[in-house]
Order: sequence, then C-alpha cells, then structure tokens
Amino acid sequence: MDYPGRISLVLFTSGCNLNCPYCHNPELRRRQEGSFTIDDVIKVVSSRTAIIDGIVVTGGEPTLHGKQLVSFLSSFKEVFPSLQIKVDSNGSNPGVLEALRGVADMIAVDLKTIAYERYLGIELSTVLRSLEVARSFTEHEVRITMYPDYVDAKHPEEFCAVLDSSSVVAVQQCYLDGRPANTPEVVEEFAEGLQRCVKEVRLRL
Ligand code: SF4
Repeated sequence: MDYPGRISLVLFTSGCNLNCPYCHNPELRRRQEGSFTIDDVIKVVSSRTAIIDGIVVTGGEPTLHGKQLVSFLSSFKEVFPSLQIKVDSNGSNPGVLEALRGVADMIAVDLKTIAYERYLGIELSTVLRSLEVARSFTEHEVRITMYPDYVDAKHPEEFCAVLDSSSVVAVQQCYLDGRPANTPEVVEEFAEGLQRCVKEVRLRL
C-alpha cells in the first residue's frame, strides 16, 4: 500500500505544517534535526536491494525539507537508478513537487477536503496545483481519507468538480482511535460516485 505494486523501504521525515485530527504520525509533526544522512540510507538500502524495488518518502510533510529533499533523492537516484522513488505530500508545496520532476517516479497527494481554508488554513488552489504537478509524473495518486468533518460522503460530486478526469484516486477509510469512522458501504458509495469522473478509483477499507 505504501507504493502500489512494489516492495518498498519507507523513510519518514519530521515536521508538518498541517494539523489533521486523524493524523497517524502525530509524533512526526514536530521537526527534529539529524536523524539520518544519505550515507545511512544508502547503507541500509544496499543491504536490501535484492528484496525491494522502491522507496517511499513520507512524513510528516517531506516537501518542508525543500532543496534538501531534492538533493537527497537526486543522490539516491544516482546510486540506485533502478529503484523507483515515491514521495507522499499533503499538497501544500507544489513548487517542491515540481523540483522533484526527473527525480521521483510517483507522487501521492492528499485531497483532504474541499473546504481547505476553513479546516486547514491553506488554499484549495494550492493543493489543486500540487495535484496538477503530480499528474505530470510517471505515476500519481490522489488520496482522499474519509474523515467525516472534512469529506461529505453524500456528495462525491463536490470532489468531482475539482478533480481532473485523468486522476487516479485512492479513497481511504478513516480510522479514529483504531475504529473506522464510516461503514464500508459509505466509503464504497463515495468511491462509486467518483468513478464517474476520474480515470481510476482505488478503494482502501
Ligand atoms: S498532513 Fe499528514 S502528517 Fe501532517 S498532520 Fe495531516 S495527516 Fe499528519
């Protein structure tokens, strides 16, 4: 699930500029310096190249590391040209995603809500720009997590209104304190609604 169709090593970056109530990595919201270097990662990956075919950079929000992230992954790609690189993002930094073109192979961007300004204090247009950039990569994924306050499950057409028809979308159940926030039927119905307006819908219950 971290990298669809691949066995991957997952790197977590610290620091996030959003504050989602359902965050599964709250300890990574605060930025911490110096946990690993490119040499550390190369050493770990070198010992696993026989079993992995990709790496995933997630967070936190990886794009907060800007040029450092781009140069880190560029060095990584030079050493391991055959490993595919996926970067997860909350969509708040489209410029950094653009800078990853030619470095990353897949970008996954969250589309958390239509009402970004109200709930998360960033503009929807910024996230839509990130989705546009993500679509220009070899692979992309738009992730919608069904947090009831953020996503009105009865109105998938609100999301259709902002999604490009070439989008690959993953509709994900939201878990709060380990329990699903919606019945499977609600999530499935929302996903069906999106099938009418995008290229592919992946269901994660
Ligand atoms: S964007 Fe991701 S890491 Fe940041 S608070 Fe939201 S769920 Fe957590």
